[in-house]
Amino acid sequence: MDCLFCKIIAGEIPCDKVYEDEKVFAFRDINPQAPVHVLLVPKKHMRNILECDGETAAALVRAVGAVAKREGLEADGFRVISNCGRNGCQSVEHLHVHLLGGAQLSEKMS
Ligand code: 5GP
Ligand code: ZN
Repeated sequence: MDCLFCKIIAGEIPCDKVYEDEKVFAFRDINPQAPVHVLLVPKKHMRNILECDGETAAALVRAVGAVAKREGLEADGFRVISNCGRNGCQSVEHLHVHLLGGAQLSEKMS
């Protein structure tokens, strides 16, 4: 399948990996929007949050917590975003969650 994130998970395209478990893979965004900007993706290909099953959603949420703690974001907080479709400006069609932190983020989200 011609999917950028599937290729990253398979090790065919290099990345700065920060976390991996049975269901989730996480790596630093190539164009960071905050001092910490990690992308968490399910290992199983799914296009977006609409295709996400409960088990995968739970695994992603657990992984967000693990990475947030590992990156030292627990005390001051962080933001989690998943863009979906055209209006959401999703540019890679493999479900991913952005974890942003390490600085005061903007109040504006749109
Ligand atoms: P989206 O816009 O779909 O919500 O987020 C896609 C994200 O993937 C963007 O923030 C973009 O910087 C990141 N990205 C695109 N190509 C690559 C890549 O090859 N490697 C990494 N690490 N991140 C990428
Ligand atoms: Zn994929």
